[in-house]
Amino acid sequence: MRCRYCMPEAEYVWLPRESILSFEEIDRVAGIFAGLGVSKVRLTGGEPLLRHDLPKLVALLARHAALNDLALTTNGILLGREAGRLYAAGLRRVTVSLDTLRPERMAEFARSQRHADVIAGIDAAVAAGFGSVKLNTVIIRGYNDDEIVDLLEFARGRGLEARFIEYMDVGGATGWSMDQVFSQREIVAAIAGRYGPVRPLHQSTWAPAERFALADGTVFGVIASTTAPFCRTCDRGRLTADGTFLLCLYGERGLDLRELLRLGADDTAVAAEIAALWSARTDRGAEERAELAERGVLHRIESLRADPRREMHTRGG
Ligand code: SAM
Repeated sequence: MRCRYCMPEAEYVWLPRESILSFEEIDRVAGIFAGLGVSKVRLTGGEPLLRHDLPKLVALLARHAALNDLALTTNGILLGREAGRLYAAGLRRVTVSLDTLRPERMAEFARSQRHADVIAGIDAAVAAGFGSVKLNTVIIRGYNDDEIVDLLEFARGRGLEARFIEYMDVGGATGWSMDQVFSQREIVAAIAGRYGPVRPLHQSTWAPAERFALADGTVFGVIASTTAPFCRTCDRGRLTADGTFLLCLYGERGLDLRELLRLGADDTAVAAEIAALWSARTDRGAEERAELAERGVLHRIESLRADPRREMHTRGG
């Protein structure tokens, strides 16, 4: 897929194959993070299901008792054939990206003809027994802001939770501009316009989405990272496919864990490096972006080509 808000360019610089962490290396890093208190791992990308035999990685991660929340974000195209194996391997939560219910829109916007496969993937996840299946929808003004209610109905009809995401100026979004951002306020207003008053839900734990309920109890979420960033409560670290540990989606520099592993550092030494970096963390990338007087694209294409780790698709959305 080549979603216009993430990978709109004709050509990309890819990370060299030998730089990509093996499943065994990812598993080892996950174990070190688990030892430092991490309990949740989300596999994202890029497209995680393009990685051959992903259920094998899930099974490795599931062996760490401390990692009690394993989740996947996927475009859904290959989910139909893998959902059962992923569940059997220990995955419990799936988020599928679905920006439109109209195949022709997806063909134009994401250069993909595989809309039916995405729907089949969603249905396969439900059939496989996943207790939590969510839908991620990036709302872009003039593209799919007219489908908010239809997408909510689609989710509601299948017992899924819809999550509407504001268009973010992340690396890779080379066509971003503020006027295309359909804000949380506008999203909630569109839903309230159809269903009546919408009630905000109070959350006991941190999550990126603010959740709301309709009068009939239907719950949906909005991720307002662009107009109402939540850096103060963000507790996420990111590991790129090639082993760079980043403290923020917008972070410029990270810690090269792959080098540490391949140079023979033991787990205690790697954990010490991670802990030192994390405890000195001051990143608040989205808030800094929101404070800019003139807000344009984060990285132009030349900057992304110079370092593909700046791409959303390498650091994980
Ligand atoms: N390939 C997988 C997928 O399609 O879900 C996982 C990676 S994708 C980068 C993860 C999520 O980030 C998707 O839900 C996608 O819609 C979202 N995303 C990508 N670019 C975005 C942007 N510029 N603003 C907001 N969300 C974005």
